[in-house]
Amino acid sequence: MNIIVQKFGGTSVGSIERIRNCANLVKREVDAGNQVVVAVSAMSGETNRLLGLADEIDPASSPRERDMLASTGEQVSIALLVMALHKIGIDAISLTGPQAGIVTDGAYMKAHILEIDNTRVLKHLSQGKVVAVAGFQGLAKNSDEVTTLGRGASDTTAVALAASLSATRCDIYTDVDGVYAADPRIVPNAKKINRLSYEEMLEMASVGAKVLHTRSVQFAAKFSVPLQVRSSFEDIPGTFITKENEAMETTVVSAIVQNANEAKVTLSGIKDQPGTAAQIFGLLSERNINVDMIVQNVGTEGLADLSFTIDKSDVPRIKEIEERLKSIVNANELQIDKNIAKISAVGVGMKSHAGVASRMFRRLAERSINIRMISTSEIKISCVVDDEYTELAVRTLCDEFGLTEASEE
Ligand code: ASP
Ligand code: MG
Repeated sequence: MNIIVQKFGGTSVGSIERIRNCANLVKREVDAGNQVVVAVSAMSGETNRLLGLADEIDPASSPRERDMLASTGEQVSIALLVMALHKIGIDAISLTGPQAGIVTDGAYMKAHILEIDNTRVLKHLSQGKVVAVAGFQGLAKNSDEVTTLGRGASDTTAVALAASLSATRCDIYTDVDGVYAADPRIVPNAKKINRLSYEEMLEMASVGAKVLHTRSVQFAAKFSVPLQVRSSFEDIPGTFITKENEAMETTVVSAIVQNANEAKVTLSGIKDQPGTAAQIFGLLSERNINVDMIVQNVGTEGLADLSFTIDKSDVPRIKEIEERLKSIVNANELQIDKNIAKISAVGVGMKSHAGVASRMFRRLAERSINIRMISTSEIKISCVVDDEYTELAVRTLCDEFGLTEASEE
């Protein structure tokens, strides 16, 4: 018998009516002769509501207690879903993450899954039951404490279960019908992507696309779990995310992704000598500030400018160490620019097609969009531009790489 894992996001279980709808989607897989494991998110808005309550008492409240609290959201959903399943004649049982054998490390609010002891899940499946598992939570290995896996991590619960059960497929049901080649808010006629490789999805997530929890895609890639992102409201095929195949390489660029969450930091007039970068980035990593792009320009008289991008949320932390940063490298100035956007083109086809970068740069130039920083990987090119050009840049590049549906005229 095939095991199918289904994951329902917060909007998909956002009301009783929608939970009934999910129950029908589960029934469909059961009727098709599959064994079904379901991973469920909290009802939409619920995790925010719970953490908001915690913040009212103390924004710095105990991480252990925050996890104890936040993990209840998913328990509501699994119990209601199972009741809805019973009501339509499907034998089912709900399990919390700990009951389902999800073992994590001890990092509250961002725990990683270490292993899954799926004995109990398999037992229920063999009894003919659907098993609904609470997403986003587990039990810490050495302390037996309840942990949560980070915001959006129910996807990761689903994929980890699919991997551990060698599931045939993991379907991620959500409020969109798949992954689009660009943000539909900017490009309303962006193409829906039929097939993506794990690598592309990971790259898209790393440059700012928020479709799936990144760790879920890493798991899927590592254990070759075929994923499908699909709509819980419309019965149409979604986007399949699988191992790379030759057909995928015929598309040069699969998606254009924008990210407005980064800020650019420039240290100017620093000494151009060995050890400078090591000192700067050493201090940043000590402070847990993640750096994305880095560019250094050598100027006159042995002095250089060094720019890097960080998450906007880390700007206050940069300000705290501004004086130290300047003094360790004798910089005469530190500038922070929040008005930037990173525009990235992603596609496995870049491995076999030359000239993607020059097409990208030329089209941006034609629109008089200045490129402030560039970075590349084997399957991605990112440009930092002024954020006022975000929409224009995304639209222009979708047009260049054929990522829009021709409008019917
Ligand atoms: N409920 C959690 C959150 O809102 C986990 C999830 O939905 O994936 O972050
Ligand atoms: Mg999500």
